[in-house]
Amino acid sequence: MPSGSVFKDNLFEGKKVFVTGGATGMGFGFAKSFLEHGADVIIASRKEESLVKAAADMMDQTGKTLHWKTMDVRHTETVEEVANYIKDNWGHLDILVNNAAGNFVTPAAAMSENAWRAVVDIVLDGTFRVSKACYPLLRKSEDGSSVVNIIANYAWGAAPFVAHSGAAKAGVLNLTRTLALEWSKDKIRVNAMCPGVVLTENVKKNLMLDESVVEMFKSNIPAGGITNAEKMAQQVLYLCSPAASVITGDMLIADGGEWLVGNNFYQIGKKFFDE
Ligand code: NAP
Repeated sequence: MPSGSVFKDNLFEGKKVFVTGGATGMGFGFAKSFLEHGADVIIASRKEESLVKAAADMMDQTGKTLHWKTMDVRHTETVEEVANYIKDNWGHLDILVNNAAGNFVTPAAAMSENAWRAVVDIVLDGTFRVSKACYPLLRKSEDGSSVVNIIANYAWGAAPFVAHSGAAKAGVLNLTRTLALEWSKDKIRVNAMCPGVVLTENVKKNLMLDESVVEMFKSNIPAGGITNAEKMAQQVLYLCSPAASVITGDMLIADGGEWLVGNNFYQIGKKFFDE
């Protein structure tokens, strides 16, 4: 059994998995976990050097091949190229994880329209584009397929100082429920997973403005503390597993109860942006 996993190591034997933005952070962890449980995995994002490094690191860490393609979720033609690559090589897809995202903190009043558009384009429109391009492949999965959209715990409340990301993730949550209904006839389940705080490189750079912010997040997580990609991958694996065969249009909140305690982004905003 892969270390730290509660699932049997062949749970996803032969399954075909696509993780967007899988070269870094949690996406790499999702890809690694699926590989360790027997799946074939492809990742895709913009930076070729990150993809090459991810494939090399994966080979070092697991001895398995991680497939990759360059793709910008903002450009339909690159998304379709990846879908065509999957079609040509695998013929179908069993699991899609919409993980790619961009984010940074800034007050809404100071947010440029370009910044707003860029984040919404990646997170909301990108999730739509990739899901739509993969739909014909997901329909062909023999045992039914699964889509997991990675959201954030400000998707259903307020997202102060990350308004672009909040609005986009809220849209993704709504899209999750809509596609769950529309695609149920095709045996495609569509769910969302809301991670806890994982100190990935981009989170450290764009959201944790100084050490006090990390401490604030830490003190507002009732269960499990700052978490990691491995634990978050277990949530995604569960949603894609036969154990979750009756779950669709749902969200799994894996944030240790942080959302119940308070709005950390509001506190960040007050500390760094309010006069
Ligand atoms: P990350 O390390 O920043 O990874 C994001 C990935 O998305 C990168 O590999 C990036 O690759 C890719 N990406 C960005 N723009 C793209 C585009 N236009 N087209 C294709 N790929 C693109 O992120 P993370 O912290 O692991 O977060 C993963 C997911 O969890 C995200 O959906 C995030 O919103 C969510 N989340 C994270 C946290 C946390 O604490 N980390 C908390 C809640 C929710 P390229 O630069 O190569 O394109």
